Amino acid sequence: MMRFFNTLGGAVGPFVPIEPGRVKIYTCGPTVYDFPHIGNWRAYVFEDLLKRFLVFSGFAVTHVMNITDVDDKTIRGAGALGVPLQDYTSKYIDGFFRDSRALNLSPADHYPRATEHIPEMVRLIETLLEKGYAYRKDGSIYFSIAKFPGYGRLSKIRLDDLRPGQRSEADEYEKESVHDFALWKGPKEGEPSWDTSVGPGRPGWHIECSAMSSKYLGPTFDIHCGGVDNIFPHHENEIAQSEAANGVKFVNYWLHCHHLVVDGEKMSKSKGNVYTLGDLQARGVDPLDLRYLLLASHYRKMLNFTFDALAQAGTARQRILDFLYELDHVTLAGGPSPEASRLIDAARSGFTAGLEDDLNISESLASLFTFVKNVNVLLADGKVTRADGDAVSSFVRSLDEVLAILPPASLDAREDAGGEDSSASTAGPELPEDLAAKIEAREKARAAKDYALADRIRSELASQGILLEDTKGGVRWKRAKTAKP
Ligand code: AMP
Ligand code: ZN
Repeated sequence: MMRFFNTLGGAVGPFVPIEPGRVKIYTCGPTVYDFPHIGNWRAYVFEDLLKRFLVFSGFAVTHVMNITDVDDKTIRGAGALGVPLQDYTSKYIDGFFRDSRALNLSPADHYPRATEHIPEMVRLIETLLEKGYAYRKDGSIYFSIAKFPGYGRLSKIRLDDLRPGQRSEADEYEKESVHDFALWKGPKEGEPSWDTSVGPGRPGWHIECSAMSSKYLGPTFDIHCGGVDNIFPHHENEIAQSEAANGVKFVNYWLHCHHLVVDGEKMSKSKGNVYTLGDLQARGVDPLDLRYLLLASHYRKMLNFTFDALAQAGTARQRILDFLYELDHVTLAGGPSPEASRLIDAARSGFTAGLEDDLNISESLASLFTFVKNVNVLLADGKVTRADGDAVSSFVRSLDEVLAILPPASLDAREDAGGEDSSASTAGPELPEDLAAKIEAREKARAAKDYALADRIRSELASQGILLEDTKGGVRWKRAKTAKP
C-alpha cells in the first residue's frame, strides 16, 4: 500500500483514494509572467513522478494543472511593457509547454486558464457572499478568515495576533501578516477588468484554484500538490474558500515539495542564479539530465542545484543508456534464465517498495542500479541470452514509465508521409512504446552496421503496419494505409 506524508496532519499515512482505482489530482501550475525556473520544474517533476507512479501502480489518474494568466505579477509585467495581458502571457504559456515536453512531463488532462474561468470564480464568490464568509469593501470583495474556524490548520499558523477585518489586496504575503484576503479586486487604472454580477474588476489569485479544481474534479478530491511556498497563504486560502462554499472537505492529501536552491542559496535575479531550462540548454545541458537530477532526491528535502550535481545526474543516466545498448547487442542464443528473472523480480519489488514509501526515490534508484550492476556481471560472464536481454531491456523500459529519463525514439512521427509538412514534429500521433523501442533498436543496429538485424526489425514493423523511411533528417515512420473496401 502506498503511503504519503500529508501536510494536513503532518504525518505519513496510507493513501486511500475516494473512489477505488481512481485518483484525482490538482497541481498549482505556472504563473505565466516569466519562463519557469528550475525551482518550478522541481515542483512539476515531483508531481509528474507522483502521477506516473500512481499510473504505474494501476490507478486511473485525472490530473488538472491551472495556468495563472491573470494576477498581480502578470498584470505588472504586461503593464511594464505596455502590451495587452494575453499578448504578454502567451509567450510564457508556450514556453511552459515546450519545456514540459522536453522534460518528459506527462500532460495533464486539463490545463484551465484563469482568464477563461471568470464566471466560475464569480459564482463561487456569490456563494461566499450569500453564506456570509465574504464582505465588500471599497469596490473589492474579501474573505473573512475569522468566519472560517478551520483557518490555519494546513499551515499551522497561529491566529493569536489576528485582528479581524485586517485585510490586503496583495496576492502574496507572509505568515506574519495573516489577514483577510481579496477574492475580487475592484477595477484599477491600467488593469484588466471584467463586468460581472459581483461588480467590475478582476479575480484575486487564490479563488481560481478553488473554482477550477471543483469544476474539473468535484468539491472533494484526492491529492493537491505544490511547492512549500504555496502552503501559506495560497493553499490555506483555497481550503477556506472551497470548504466555506461547498460545506465538504476540499482535499484529502496535501503533498508539498521542498525548495530547490542554487549553490546553497535561494534563487534570485539579483544573484544571477535563476536558471530556466533554456539557460541550461544554451550551456549544452540535456533536459533529461535535469529531469533526473530533479527527481533523484526526495521531494521533502531541500535540493541544492550545482553544475557538479547535474554532471553526476548525466553520468547516472548514461549508465542506464549504456546498459540498454549492451542488452540490445547480446547475441547469445537461448531462452530465459532463472537468474535473470530472479534479478528482475527483486529489482521490481525494491523499486516499487521505495516509491510506495512516500516516494522514496533513493531506495527505488538504488534497486535499479544494483540490478544494473548484477546484470552487468552476468553480461561480463557471457551468461545473458538474447531472451534475457529482451526481458531485462523491457523491464528497464517499464520502469521508465515512472522515471521518464530515456530519450524518446528519434523520430519524426507523421500520420501520413504524403503530408506536406516537412518540419520535424514530435506533436504528431503517438507511436506505442514497444514500436518506438523497435525503431530505436533498428537505429542502433544500423549505427553498428548490423544491417541484417536492422532489416529484420524493419520487416517486423511493416508486419505491424508501421513503414519506415530513412531520410537525411533521420528515420521517419508512417502507418500503412488500410485498403478501402
Ligand atoms: P509559481 O509559478 O510561482 O506559481 O510557482 C509554480 C510552482 O513552483 C509552485 O508549486 C511553487 O510552489 C513551485 N516553486 C516555486 N519556487 C520553487 C523552488 N525554488 N523550488 C521548488 N518549487 C518551487
Ligand atoms: Zn493554486
